[in-house]
Amino acid sequence: MNQTEKTLNIMPDLQQAEHILHDVFGFEEFRSLQKDIIENVLRKHDTLAVMPTGGGKSLCYQIPALIFDGFTIVVSPLISLMKDQVDQLTAYGVSASYLNSSLSPRDYQNTLDLIRRNKLDLLYLAPETLLKGNVLNLLTGLNVECIAIDEAHCISEWGHDFRPEYRQLANVTRRFENAVTLGLTATATLRVQKDIAVSLGLKNAHTFVASFNRKNLYLNVESKNNALQQVINFLRRHEGDSGIIYCFSRKQVDQLSQDLNANGFNSLPYHAGLAEQERAKNQDAFIRDEVNIIVATIAFGMGIDKPDVRFVVHHDMPRNIESYYQQIGRAGRDGLQADCLFLFSYGDASKIRYFIDQKAESEQRVAEQHLQKLMEYVESHQCRRIKLLQYFGEHFNEPNCGMCDFCTGDTPEKENITIPVQKFLSTMARTDQKFGYHHIKNILVGSRRKEVLKFGHNQLSTYGIGKEFSRPEWKQLYRELMKQDIIVREFEHKSLKLTPKAVEILKGEQEVFGVIEEPQKKNQTGGAKSEIESLDFNKNLFALLKEKRMDLAQQQGVPPYVIFADTSLIEMAYYFPQSKESFLKVHGVGRAKAEKYGTAFLNPIIEFCKEQGLKERSKSGQPKKSKARKTLSKTGRPYEVGHMFLQGDTITDIATKIDVKESTVVGYLLKFVKAGNKIPSDKILGASNLSRSNLKKVEQAFTEHGTDMLRPVFEALSEKITYDELKVVQLYLIAKG
Ligand code: ADP
Ligand code: ZN
Repeated sequence: MNQTEKTLNIMPDLQQAEHILHDVFGFEEFRSLQKDIIENVLRKHDTLAVMPTGGGKSLCYQIPALIFDGFTIVVSPLISLMKDQVDQLTAYGVSASYLNSSLSPRDYQNTLDLIRRNKLDLLYLAPETLLKGNVLNLLTGLNVECIAIDEAHCISEWGHDFRPEYRQLANVTRRFENAVTLGLTATATLRVQKDIAVSLGLKNAHTFVASFNRKNLYLNVESKNNALQQVINFLRRHEGDSGIIYCFSRKQVDQLSQDLNANGFNSLPYHAGLAEQERAKNQDAFIRDEVNIIVATIAFGMGIDKPDVRFVVHHDMPRNIESYYQQIGRAGRDGLQADCLFLFSYGDASKIRYFIDQKAESEQRVAEQHLQKLMEYVESHQCRRIKLLQYFGEHFNEPNCGMCDFCTGDTPEKENITIPVQKFLSTMARTDQKFGYHHIKNILVGSRRKEVLKFGHNQLSTYGIGKEFSRPEWKQLYRELMKQDIIVREFEHKSLKLTPKAVEILKGEQEVFGVIEEPQKKNQTGGAKSEIESLDFNKNLFALLKEKRMDLAQQQGVPPYVIFADTSLIEMAYYFPQSKESFLKVHGVGRAKAEKYGTAFLNPIIEFCKEQGLKERSKSGQPKKSKARKTLSKTGRPYEVGHMFLQGDTITDIATKIDVKESTVVGYLLKFVKAGNKIPSDKILGASNLSRSNLKKVEQAFTEHGTDMLRPVFEALSEKITYDELKVVQLYLIAKG
């Protein structure tokens, strides 16, 4: 027993866990819930851990495995991931191996041998392998102290990925009396969680549920108008980054991949229509950083664990929120910022609706509800995280997440456009729904065009009542009406028709929200950067170290991230470690990795620093960077409006000056305030038309329901006070603080 092992044995368990976190994995601190889960497992209490992808589930059994005397079995359905995980553990100096059908008979025998000789801390198994008589008998004779069931939702028929073999696992775990069972899943539904605990036979299981908010994902939904160009523009901001683009069909995958390559990008397709070998080859090229873009159908992603996926694009609409969340979840596992772009079109939504119509009636309702939830997410005029997390039963109430198009001011505010919409619709009704867009618009703006006069439409009560909008604005409003299925265009005569929705709007039973203004120029993403990524590291050295990593990875036949994650390289390119000791302080560098790769990385760093006259920076002495909250772009409208208000203009003044409605100004001010700016509250209520008693009622409702969302307040007041009025009071209350 060497010195370290001796120290370990006399340490209390949790301290030992922390020691391993630093010493073996080279990480500074536990992530949310990891500590609690590990503590529970070490006490041999059955545990269910629910964490989003990238949350850090693996450490929850890997660290106990290094503390227990006996060994840990990890059951995982993802055969393709086992080798990867074992490679990663081996790089950290942990003795781990796996058994599954992909092994050659010789390797299989070798592993069995390691098990017999008690040489392993962790053994990964496919469920069907564990259920085999010979394997089970071999293991029953050993001291198994922990059975970790990864992807535990596979046991539940309610889950999205039911595997019948999982059902038999409870019989197996029962045979290992000394073993604690730990189920792990990223599935958030309560029903599935309960089902897992029961079906796995967990005893008095303690369930730990982490937040599903992936703070480092930037969420952006854009209207799809020229998809290829939009994707290209996006990719230009991500030169050299790894990322996935999801398409609806195989054909689109092939087409887009070709188009991108023709535009100078380096992408490969992935879908079920390709030969298995080619699919594996393309996936491998992506994992090994030989190609940086994969264009794929939803079939891609389950079997990859790549931590540095920097973006996920939805070129087409995903089926539902759950699969959307799963797919964007593949980005940014390393905790660094990742960029998610969703190109949305109502045409895509109709396509999905068409597929729903083909389903059996019993399934239609559920599918329709799923689609509805996704539409609410897309159309939401609040922080994207509110609707997304609501789906997982979480209440997100930060005033500004700083990491979505809404909170960073990229999305134009949706405003209440009920009145102009009513004008448009009633003009359609008064002309018997026989005309197209141009004619209706001409009536509204009071045009003297021949056709208007010919039909006597200058006599209509709606003639000239739409002068407050310019022609492009009416065009934008018309697009909103089409988008929201309020009107349809008859194919043959190109005339516009009212839908049932339109009738409700005309009767004043429903309000309409939309964007009439032209969208502002998109901001670059910024946002809640992690400590590591706010380091101003040396890009040249980083590139050099990446090359070094690639060489080593190729020599050893492992993906580059198995050697070091980007986060480690970033720190090396910032702190310029010159010795083994300082190398050990780098994030993700544990003892074994320092031993194995120290010289290989230290040499080029030392040489580079000598050439450039750079000195080592001490890591511990470095002041911690404060987390940068994304502030609004300093050139954007909300900022401009905020400053006008601060300089003394009233809301009405500003509306006149910049020629928008007062409610739009209120919207800008809300953004300004939510981004952390202060404005005086006393002049805000000047923009309110509410009577004193109504004002009181509204304030009371906000006190009761909080100022984050308008809908609960709107409903609490029997939908009698308009959203525009509510917004004024909301702004007042938030500004008042
Ligand atoms: P999950 O299985 O929940 O999807 P992983 O266990 O693969 O997540 O962890 C995701 C990434 O986060 C991995 O690259 C892992 O090394 C890293 N990680 C996990 N825990 C920590 C921690 N406490 N500090 C730093 N990095 C961590
Ligand atoms: Zn947000």
